[in-house]
Amino acid sequence: MPPTRIAILGSTGSIGQSTLDIIRRFPERFRVVALAAGCNDARLSEQVREFHPALASLAHPQAFERLQAAFPDGATALQAGEGGAAAVAAYPDADLVVSAFVGAAGLVPTLAALQAGKTVALANKETLVMAGALMTRTAAAGGARLIPIDSEHSAIFQCLAGQRRADVRRLYLTASGGPFRTADRATLANVSVEQALAHPVWRMGPKVTIDSATLMNKGFEAIEARWLFDISPEQIKILIHPQCRVHSMVEFVDGAILAQVGAPDMRGPIAYALAYPERLDLGFLALPERDFSGWEFASPDPSLFPCADLAFEALADGPGSPAALNAANEVAVAAFLNGRLPFLGIAEVNRGVLRRARAEGLGDADSLGAVLAIDRAARQWAREIAGGFTG
Ligand code: MG
Repeated sequence: MPPTRIAILGSTGSIGQSTLDIIRRFPERFRVVALAAGCNDARLSEQVREFHPALASLAHPQAFERLQAAFPDGATALQAGEGGAAAVAAYPDADLVVSAFVGAAGLVPTLAALQAGKTVALANKETLVMAGALMTRTAAAGGARLIPIDSEHSAIFQCLAGQRRADVRRLYLTASGGPFRTADRATLANVSVEQALAHPVWRMGPKVTIDSATLMNKGFEAIEARWLFDISPEQIKILIHPQCRVHSMVEFVDGAILAQVGAPDMRGPIAYALAYPERLDLGFLALPERDFSGWEFASPDPSLFPCADLAFEALADGPGSPAALNAANEVAVAAFLNGRLPFLGIAEVNRGVLRRARAEGLGDADSLGAVLAIDRAARQWAREIAGGFTG
């Protein structure tokens, strides 16, 4: 079998590097053909030297100049800016595109990959949170396929393999519960940035770590699941599971529940997405026997963690509301990280923006331009509401 040819959007980030680690371990199975990154020219240069892609792209202009200076021979074609990322996304020789840019920067190139009919291994959350209807419609129209990389959605995807969709009763999205799982409201009111950044299990970037502490991340994952699996929000349930060994579950109409269990290491879901429908031999990820004990599951307390419920409210409100919620939350989390908003203020900003969106209307969300306009309006509202906390 010829190797699967892979393009990576966001190759220098955490998911991108883990993807390259899997590719490095299976050189007969995979070949890197195109890489795109934001501004880390030093790391991208190392990757170009090791994997010899045909195309490499950097968004940042100065970083791109340094990359050009490092590779004057032209063996790897170099491109800059958004156009470069879109070229990597739609690279003709790529069979599979890993979409791992962080934030809204992932929207345009992921849409380009879907329009080009690629198989997209999706790690960029904003793709489905901000524009789920548009992305899934585009994928269906172009014959493209979305395979999730997020651990919960990979778990559900694996549990659904070989099953009839009509037999699904419910999805259980598991959540670690974050560092404040057992906290009370008085404690949450005085949480410091350092405490919120200390996630008990997963090592992640600051934004998603805060989103895990508020459960906003799980709310966004419910929105992703709604689009990825074409399932109604009422069929999605969040369960706190602090041990993070069960990555999610599917309940079927006969009462049977299938769970996907494994080490909390993103290389598992990445490898599954790259090799699907086959599995790679990843002995280093085998779960040690001591990990099979003390598993707990509990429903989250909505009075302490309202952000998860806000995601369901946004889904019920209409197609533009999840994008507004995403924008509000980015502004709120940045304000919290800068010490300008208390921890509990994050949910208040998010709730306030949804309320304002309901009052003023958002318009449709059926193009990328419309989604980005909603994003801009919601950010402005969120800044106004967050500003009210500083006085
Ligand atoms: Mg996740």
